[in-house]
Amino acid sequence: MLNNKVAIITGASRGIGFACAERFIQEGAKVVLSDVNDDVGEAAAKSLRDNGGEATYQHCDVSSKQEIQALFDDSVALHGRVDIAVANAGIVHAADILDLEEEDFDRVININLKGVFLTGQIAAKQMIKQPPDEDGFRGSIINMSSVNGVLAIPAITPYVIAKGGVNQWTKCLGIRMANEGVRVNGIGPGSINTEMFQKVADNPQKMQEVMSRTPMQRPGEPDEVAKIAVFLASHYSSYITGQTVYPDGGRMGLNYVVPVAE
Ligand code: NAP
Repeated sequence: MLNNKVAIITGASRGIGFACAERFIQEGAKVVLSDVNDDVGEAAAKSLRDNGGEATYQHCDVSSKQEIQALFDDSVALHGRVDIAVANAGIVHAADILDLEEEDFDRVININLKGVFLTGQIAAKQMIKQPPDEDGFRGSIINMSSVNGVLAIPAITPYVIAKGGVNQWTKCLGIRMANEGVRVNGIGPGSINTEMFQKVADNPQKMQEVMSRTPMQRPGEPDEVAKIAVFLASHYSSYITGQTVYPDGGRMGLNYVVPVAE
């Protein structure tokens, strides 16, 4: 589905970003993984190459505009164009709102919101310069949001604010690029089995709370998010832009009057 497409993924050393890299390669794409976690990122790219995929790794802290620009410039120098950009890097910081430190608020917003904005802006500027492919498209941008872009957990307020902002950014950039051959969409996962979810997974009481509100009664797997990224990156989603898709096991549809599992 993605034959010879060139994809850049941020925060791709592990978790959902790495799952997207694996799936994109299975679908025929060439992938540039980027992260701040360099040893793990280099090893991740090597594991993909060892399995016959075309994958490289480049350091990129998405809170740095220069590093994102360098990531795109170097990828274009290597592959000639960028067809798919996944703004996936994200962190969580937990604190009571009344004790939340300004620097922790800034750090989460800089990575989870400003980083997604800068990645999308730089990707869009590159994509509109490129000739369209055989289907008339110049590129697909995918922003990693969360159910917390719509729902709210006060204990992780900067994360919730950032993801809500990402959803609005997806709409703004999607509308701006609608007639430029570039589509922009988001994915808003529920609880997915990655290191980010580990603290919940390791705590039976917290896990029970989350699963009791997840109609499918299980966390999702990173590959279940990656398969949506393939769809949004491919021409199978050719008339979709500005949307966010929620792989959440039914959580966002659950009305509070429905009895929850014990
Ligand atoms: P993860 O396993 O923690 O992976 C995130 C990766 O991003 C890590 O390798 C991390 O490196 C990297 N990273 C952190 N700060 C960065 C920065 N400034 N620049 C570039 N990379 C950076 O998390 P995940 O679960 O795969 O999450 C990926 C995305 O999905 C995030 O945007 C997250 O908010 C979203 N999401 C996840 C879930 C879930 O339940 N897992 C649910 C909804 C949404 P370090 O470890 O070195 O910091």
